[in-house]
Amino acid sequence: MIYQPVMGLEVHVQLHTKSKVFATEGFQFGAEANQWVSPITLAHPGALPSINQVCIEYAIRLGLATNCEIARHTYFARKNYFYPDSPKGYQLSQAEHPICENGYLDLELAEGKHKRIGIERIHLEEDAGKSIHDQDPSSTQIDLNRAGTGLLEIVTRPDFRTIEEVGIFLTEIRKLVRYLEISDADMEKGNMRCDANISVRLAGTETLGTRVEVKNLNSINFTRKAIRYEIERQISLLTAGQTIKQETRTYDINRGITASMRDKETADDYRYFPEPDLQPLALPDATISAIQASLPELPKSRFKRYVSALGLSPHKAAALTEQKAFSHYFEAVMAAGCDADAASTWLLGPVNAYLNAEKLEIETVGLPPKQIAAAAALVKEGKVSFSAAKAQLFPLMIKYPNELPATLARSNNLILADQSDELEAAMHALMKKHPDEVARFRKGKKQLAGFFVGQLMRQFKGKADPKAINRVVRDELNRF
Ligand code: MN
Repeated sequence: MIYQPVMGLEVHVQLHTKSKVFATEGFQFGAEANQWVSPITLAHPGALPSINQVCIEYAIRLGLATNCEIARHTYFARKNYFYPDSPKGYQLSQAEHPICENGYLDLELAEGKHKRIGIERIHLEEDAGKSIHDQDPSSTQIDLNRAGTGLLEIVTRPDFRTIEEVGIFLTEIRKLVRYLEISDADMEKGNMRCDANISVRLAGTETLGTRVEVKNLNSINFTRKAIRYEIERQISLLTAGQTIKQETRTYDINRGITASMRDKETADDYRYFPEPDLQPLALPDATISAIQASLPELPKSRFKRYVSALGLSPHKAAALTEQKAFSHYFEAVMAAGCDADAASTWLLGPVNAYLNAEKLEIETVGLPPKQIAAAAALVKEGKVSFSAAKAQLFPLMIKYPNELPATLARSNNLILADQSDELEAAMHALMKKHPDEVARFRKGKKQLAGFFVGQLMRQFKGKADPKAINRVVRDELNRF
């Protein structure tokens, strides 16, 4: 029997805002515990929430970027449950009428295949604090800094059929929220987390199998591993004639297995009701169209533009748009006068190699983009060879980021001498030695130019600019 896996995801993205979603205090990752807490977060009697408008705007940005319908009227609801790191005893979330509904994201799979993943809803809610179990052997400690920070929860339809699709979706969401500048989406810091709903069914059947939810997966890799384990576990249970229990499980990263956490609650168990301390929210068309107009260029359209308008290969375009900061840097190099071809050669060549070797991000390097453009111009004008620029000039530019590349090239003897006379003399000698080849070239066998280029290259052994050699060969062969 062949089973088909079916997956849906709930992705929580922590919003990068100055203050929390229903309280006014800020939040810093890694700050001393319980420093960022107000009476609202601590649920003191009489403390009243208010809505952070920036969080609403961020929700709409993501909704528009994922082709969602944006609600014109929405409200917040209390989701009741007890957690030690959530003093209120409920979470402010959304039940009916979330801000965004019915969207989708198109994924590019391997071998040019596409897959559309439906997005059921994106709602805004608050995060809980953190329970810390590993600092003290006899007690659990609670840090409420994170309590009340804004989260967007993206709920997909059960449209995933392979683990590959899940990995690509999470990578795309992470890229998208970074381009939209609404979240750092750093899974290691917990500001993007994923719950996966997993079921299996006999291939060819339509009814969904009983689903199991695996909670709090904090890396794309662990999400993939947890899903793979869960698919195998469910298939082996069914093969042995057993049934799947609907439940919530956790993934144990050390043992690589999922384990039962609790029986799955249904929505009724949370007894949602509208938050009485907050006004319902009206979102006029003008607000939504203003946000639409302010959206930055998104990674997918940037990728398409790089291929169609700049003529870059899909492979290069993908590498250049993978990270927002890197792509912005590429744009800035072009804005400083460098053509797309040279800019991509520099960025995907020496710049990328340097970043990888030093484990750095482009924004921390401090090399102004105009310096890359200036170095590329030196190569284009034949003043410095690309190999010297890559191996010698670039490290100097990193060391002296504010010095002109031309100055650095001059003071380090990297400027190619004007060898036109020498090259011409050598070419004349070659033409005398090979009159047949010259005659055949002039009768139309143009590829013979390569023969002369090769001869000169060998003769000058990298001491002459290949571009100059090519120019001299063509000029002399075409001279009657
Ligand atoms: Mn949630």
